Amino acid sequence: MTVTQPIHNPTHPPYGSIEVIAGCMFSGKTEELIRRLRRAQIARQRVEIFKPSIDDRYSTTEVVSHSQVKIESHVVAHSRDIMRLAADADVVGIDEAQFFDEGIVEICETLANQGKRVIVAGLDLDYRGKPFGPMPHLMAVAEYVTKTLAVCMQSGLPASRTQRLSANKEVVVVGHTDQYEARHRKFFEPPPAQP
Ligand code: ADP
Ligand code: MG
Repeated sequence: MTVTQPIHNPTHPPYGSIEVIAGCMFSGKTEELIRRLRRAQIARQRVEIFKPSIDDRYSTTEVVSHSQVKIESHVVAHSRDIMRLAADADVVGIDEAQFFDEGIVEICETLANQGKRVIVAGLDLDYRGKPFGPMPHLMAVAEYVTKTLAVCMQSGLPASRTQRLSANKEVVVVGHTDQYEARHRKFFEPPPAQP
């Protein structure tokens, strides 16, 4: 017998909700996002995954973690592109949400109100230690918020901050371990305040 109906996980009935996974770089946000999405796929739910086109590390069509776990995704330039592509999904995953425009908040609310399970991962803070883009707003409207911590590269303590190693002053500099490292707040050195 072929089962065509999705099997809904009883812990996530199709009432719609927003889950946010937030933390610094290397804290395992993407791994955790992919873990949840894979389980939804195993439950035969229809899953659609999105990432902003600005994040061109590793792959243009996949969401890839620093540990090379990956999942097929749509690359979109604007948050409104998600509405159309997510129309038939039961579960919508979004990575690097901090790079999306503010419109992402209303999109996530609309999708959740339609009964979809929306799972959003992103950096809570930028390299200055300031809230990043739409993430604070997303965390406020979410039903579930998970904060992930990395390992501080100076101390081995739990890390919540992303230290930029270069002097570049752009808020968005896409990079890897050559540009950034995870730090405990005690070892985080914010850049000098700009005029
Ligand atoms: P994020 O999406 O939060 O940037 P990823 O899920 O892509 O993180 O990667 C998490 C993985 O990164 C870990 O499982 C580990 O293999 C690797 N890693 C590299 N540096 C660190 C670090 N300082 N702390 C924790 N994990 C790290
Ligand atoms: Mg990530």
